[in-house]
Amino acid sequence: MTGHHSYTGRFAPSPSGPLHFGSLIAALASFLDARHHHGQWLLRMEDIDEPRCVGGADKLILDTLEAHHLHWDGEVMYQSAEHARYQALTDQFIRQGLAYRCSCTRKMIKEAGGTYPGTCRDKHITGDGTAIRLKMTSPVTRFDDRIMGQVHVTDAHALEDTVLKRRDGLFSYNLVVVADDIHQGVTHIVRGSDLLTTTATHLSLYKLLQARAPAYAHVPVASVSEGRKLSKQNHAAALNNATPSENLAAALNFLGLALPEDGINAPPAEVLQWAVEHWGCDRIPRQREIIVAASESTYHRPFIFCGI
Ligand code: GLU
Repeated sequence: MTGHHSYTGRFAPSPSGPLHFGSLIAALASFLDARHHHGQWLLRMEDIDEPRCVGGADKLILDTLEAHHLHWDGEVMYQSAEHARYQALTDQFIRQGLAYRCSCTRKMIKEAGGTYPGTCRDKHITGDGTAIRLKMTSPVTRFDDRIMGQVHVTDAHALEDTVLKRRDGLFSYNLVVVADDIHQGVTHIVRGSDLLTTTATHLSLYKLLQARAPAYAHVPVASVSEGRKLSKQNHAAALNNATPSENLAAALNFLGLALPEDGINAPPAEVLQWAVEHWGCDRIPRQREIIVAASESTYHRPFIFCGI
């Protein structure tokens, strides 16, 4: 990818199943923000956690995005093809003394109170079969979010020595998301608020890498009940590719951009064009989640749960 764009956004789904209403919101919000700013919009398959990936889900996701006229720029990046780059970055952190090997088990951490207390920081453990953790010597705890405003993260998990590579050899989401966003020249990240506190960890990584951090905008997530986002686990229905305009209208409604009366009958390309013109972070509900009906693929009556 070229680094010459003043706005590069992306959508980064995990191919663990087809897109549902909750994932359409993240796709649509990142798309509209990019197009509103005449930026490019990249697509990245976050298939790093291979045991959780479902064969063929990537294809279903691409088909659904196409059906909704959410056309991305350039080639789709697959994280599963990028291991060498993640390994090189992990090695670099170790060489610089910014990361270390940790032999603690999940059970040991649980017994220590649940958050990792830095037990192995100065043990100089070598060899395989260990996790690799980042030394979070001065974690970032505050940032400005374009939707949520000033965010102050106090969650201990966001501030602990985060895992870069797990004992079983899998690279962590926190490592690869930052590595890829830097590699792809991403300047603006628009995604669900379930990742709001994790952003502090990402910003700490940017700081250690002396890389320029992107601007963040976290949109509300669609939840079935308080704290339970719509997901495959609670049987969110796959989006119906035969009704793209209705799905887009429902997602727009969720994001605070209700279409004009006749809009729902317009083809998806026109719905999107209207939305690109009317898009603005100030319209989006400034809350972490909005409760929607559990088993529906689209969103009808909002029940506004609470502010952030
Ligand atoms: N792959 C992540 C997910 O599906 C999103 C990552 C991101 O947007 O930073 O939840």
